[in-house]
Amino acid sequence: MSLLPFTVAKFGGTSLADHQAMLRCAQIIKNDASNKVVVVSASSGVTNLLVRLSQKDVPQHEQLAIISSIRAIQFNITQHLAEETQLNFQIDQLLNELSEFSNAQSLNYCSRIADAILSFGEQMSSRIFAQVLKSVGVNGEMFDVRQVMKTNAVYGKAVVNLELLADNAQQSLTPLLVDKVIVTQGFIGQDEDGHTTTLGRGGSDYSAALLAEALHADNLSIWTDVVGIFTTDPRITEHARAIKEISFGEAAEMATFGAKILHPATLIPAMRKNIPVFVGSSKEPEKGGTRIQQFVESSPIYRSIALRREQTLVTVKSPAMLHASGFLAQVFGILAKHELSVDLITTSEISVALTFDNPTGSTQALLNSTVVEELEQLCEVTVEHGLSLIAVIGNKMHRSNGVGTSIFETISGINVRMICHGASEHNLCFLVDEKQANETVEKLHNALFS
Ligand code: ADP
Ligand code: ASP
Ligand code: MG
Repeated sequence: MSLLPFTVAKFGGTSLADHQAMLRCAQIIKNDASNKVVVVSASSGVTNLLVRLSQKDVPQHEQLAIISSIRAIQFNITQHLAEETQLNFQIDQLLNELSEFSNAQSLNYCSRIADAILSFGEQMSSRIFAQVLKSVGVNGEMFDVRQVMKTNAVYGKAVVNLELLADNAQQSLTPLLVDKVIVTQGFIGQDEDGHTTTLGRGGSDYSAALLAEALHADNLSIWTDVVGIFTTDPRITEHARAIKEISFGEAAEMATFGAKILHPATLIPAMRKNIPVFVGSSKEPEKGGTRIQQFVESSPIYRSIALRREQTLVTVKSPAMLHASGFLAQVFGILAKHELSVDLITTSEISVALTFDNPTGSTQALLNSTVVEELEQLCEVTVEHGLSLIAVIGNKMHRSNGVGTSIFETISGINVRMICHGASEHNLCFLVDEKQANETVEKLHNALFS
């Protein structure tokens, strides 16, 4: 079935925080008839509450308090809708289910139940937003994404089966787009046994990109709380400015290196199918935003600066490394066995430095115990936490004169722990102490973008 050019639109948590915010999103959909599929995050704050609920040993009184806070956030929106009673009934049904999962979790922790708990935010917001669309005269209908977003059973960072997604989406979603606007959940999926899974924090962007790919959409719009992608996180410096146009490659580097505006995997499906991506603010859609596409007019040496906190640096050192082969294979063998994914690497004569992303403290826990003991059988190991990774992103950086000098002269007073340059033409990155991260970004931004 062929449709007119159409767009998959994704709204993040702040865009769905309350009724006013949801109405603004509904107007965006209404104003452009090409918006046929809407992917929603949970209303702002809800997933964070669910994360706490999904943890071990949450006392009964706290479980009740969390569920009642979530109920208040959602009822605060539904009170403005004609279908309030019917929606509140549905939300209470979902919250009863949530409460059963949370009781089970407090008795016996299990990562499968954690994912089930995390999925409720999107389950509620999608139902509510479909009604908000109806309230502005758009024929919105909620579609449970778990019917199509089939994943493996790696809870917390499930991997989507792309072939199944494409088949399922073509079969059960495409026919609905003829006369409806489909509202579906980001972030969640379903494993082979029918258990709910999640794709990782911030994963709704990625869900939207996957759906755009599977449905052969012509555009992907990511509506958030800032007017596009900035030269750096606008929360770090007021001098950050929005970028009008950026290439897939540059934006992918930004996402990978911590620019929270996009989930790191978002651009992979878009690049595979050459689907242009727009990023804009649902609060100020008239201000335009950033277009991410394959070819762009300008390719400056410096495009942006990204910052990723909570990095761990591991240095392994052994004289056995000198002129020997197979040492690194053994080190990586141990890391692979423990499913630790290495981020950056630098080597010297007898030592190797490796970094790990450590967003939830999980890497820290692993690296403090078994892994270190196993590595110590091979070599001397030093583990350092509390570091931030700063990536300067741009074009042809590996071939341009003076890149290193411009960057490191600017931050000459700051202790740089590790530098990676040359592997990618799009970035130069390094580690600094967490406490100096903002200052480093500000100084660099002033020097490179003012
Ligand atoms: P959503 O809930 O819509 O998914 P997020 O909070 O995940 O929104 O992402 C938007 C936030 O990303 C912005 O408020 C901003 O603080 C942050 N951010 C980080 N780096 C950048 C950047 N380079 N450009 C714009 N925003 C950025
Ligand atoms: N609600 C999920 C989260 O907060 C997914 C998302 O917002 O993209 O991580
Ligand atoms: Mg996000």
